[in-house]
Amino acid sequence: MNRCCPLCNGFIDIYEFCPDCGGKMEDGGAINEYYDPYSPYIEIISSRERFENDNECLHLIYCPFCGRDKREKIKKVLLDGYKLK
Ligand SMILES: [Zn+2]
Ligand SMILES: [Zn+2]
Repeated sequence: MNRCCPLCNGFIDIYEFCPDCGGKMEDGGAINEYYDPYSPYIEIISSRERFENDNECLHLIYCPFCGRDKREKIKKVLLDGYKLK
């Protein structure tokens, strides 16, 4: 079965509002794809979490207004569940 992240593939959009300023938060991309060897922040999301969450895609959601960010797990879906129009 081919699972994919609906957010990575543009099937869904992020509708989260910043708890600090109320601005609409945006998807910063999948953290798995972030590669920054100097960032301890990324180190915390160890490979352990990656392995255990094969059905989820970890995204960085950020507020473009105040810079707050957080991690959000997006459940991967079966590709069949989304018919392309
Ligand atoms: Zn994703
Ligand atoms: Zn904000």
